[in-house]
Amino acid sequence: MEHRPHIVVVEDEAAQRQLLLDYLGKQNYRVSGADSGVALRKILERELPTLVLLDVGLPGEDGFAVARWLRQKSGRVGIIMVTAASDMIDRVVGLESGADDYIAKPFEPRELLARVKSVLRRISDTPAARSNPQIRMGRRILDLDRRVLIDPANGSEDRLTASEFDLLKVFAENPNRPLNRDWLLEVTAHREVDAFDRAIDLRITRLRRKVEVDPAHPDAIRTVRGVGYMFVPPKA
Ligand code: CA
Repeated sequence: MEHRPHIVVVEDEAAQRQLLLDYLGKQNYRVSGADSGVALRKILERELPTLVLLDVGLPGEDGFAVARWLRQKSGRVGIIMVTAASDMIDRVVGLESGADDYIAKPFEPRELLARVKSVLRRISDTPAARSNPQIRMGRRILDLDRRVLIDPANGSEDRLTASEFDLLKVFAENPNRPLNRDWLLEVTAHREVDAFDRAIDLRITRLRRKVEVDPAHPDAIRTVRGVGYMFVPPKA
């Protein structure tokens, strides 16, 4: 069984692709190359990679479209967009496609490696949730052991339904990652069969009323257009 992270480099320029494959291969990652979204789809028929390095400027379907498709396939796979300066991309556009991060060409291999490592860390462990059973969310604190929301202002506690808790726990374990709506539904819908309760957007609205400082302008559980939602921990 192969335990090394599997990184797929999607880049249409052969020399550039080979350079990245050689570099990442030397860092002891398992690597595969793809020259298009079509080639990436072929790889996914066999296995889901750990991380995909995705060039924005691809012939045919561009990197953003491929990223959106990939994020729908998996909420877990890491996605780093590789952009050319001429792409005029900003971080928001990249994140709206469901990417975890982006890097602009030209870049130093070491910078790329730092970003790859950082995304892999976020994927492989969820340090916040495992080491600390209390997670700050907006104006409340989620206690993962006791399954309550604590109001630090007065110490009062709110009990959570199983469905509310499941969803908040997934957010707590995946901070700063855009999470696909369908994936959220899939990983949290196993307990309750109530169709009304399964509607993810309604559940989010209810949770926002509980955790946001201003539910009309959510800051902790943000909407990521075209993807789903992202939990943003408060700045320390
Ligand atoms: Ca390209």
